[in-house]
Amino acid sequence: MFSARHVEAGSECLYNIISQQYGAEKYRLTKVKGAAMGKGIRVTVWNEGVHEKNNDIVRKLYPKGMGYPIAQYLRKQEGIGPVRISELDQKDQGLSERVLKNADVMTWWGHVAHDRVTDENAARVQQRVLEGMGLVVLHSGHLSKPFTRLMGTGCMLKWREIGERERIWVVDPAHPIADGLPEYIELEHTEMYGEHFDIPQPDQLVFISWFQGGEVFRSGCCWHRGRGKVFYFRPGHETFPIYHNEQVLKVIYNGIRWAAPCGVTKIVRDHFPPIESV
Ligand code: ZN
Repeated sequence: MFSARHVEAGSECLYNIISQQYGAEKYRLTKVKGAAMGKGIRVTVWNEGVHEKNNDIVRKLYPKGMGYPIAQYLRKQEGIGPVRISELDQKDQGLSERVLKNADVMTWWGHVAHDRVTDENAARVQQRVLEGMGLVVLHSGHLSKPFTRLMGTGCMLKWREIGERERIWVVDPAHPIADGLPEYIELEHTEMYGEHFDIPQPDQLVFISWFQGGEVFRSGCCWHRGRGKVFYFRPGHETFPIYHNEQVLKVIYNGIRWAAPCGVTKIVRDHFPPIESV
């Protein structure tokens, strides 16, 4: 009997679809690329990398950059393949055709330099998502060019930075991104993000945050775009040690697994001859 245990990370979704429709044996006959071929999910952690260079607090919290603890955590997780860190100051802003082609999922953290990301590079990220790359957008990435392009709305929100408590409640306990989490994650000191968050209605809502000051926020949102998936996860202000928190890192990992490419790899959208004789 073929079991889900034999299915490599990143292809569970495909396995489920096919086993539901045709029985598990059919899975062996299905060719899938990248993550599903057994090498693990290839992740690019894209980090703006500006605060770390000009803010002592941030440099102290993240001496090797904000992407580093995320990448280090991911490298130890099951089902994750090569993890690279890309930064704005690198060649092609860390967003070359080659980098994007070799990423099954990209995580994105940006804040003060959204405008420095070229429109060409932002369009390239957007296109890769439409082609199937997963995108996990973190915290202030809500105003990044790739995210706002993919959402089509303003993506603005309320904010306040007084280091208040946040409770991130799981509102979809059966969702794969909630796998292994408690009912809520508590962060003692965070920046507040409050509604209204100007996004299209999420296809799936996994987390809602409550803040000590009284606001609430949709802090874990999923969308499908073309053949790709986008997960937005709120925590991550640069002057708090958010990416050293194991539960936050676990959500990012779960989000990457959810967003990894799976499903139908070839789709025809054009004039189409009838399959039956008509
Ligand atoms: Zn922030």
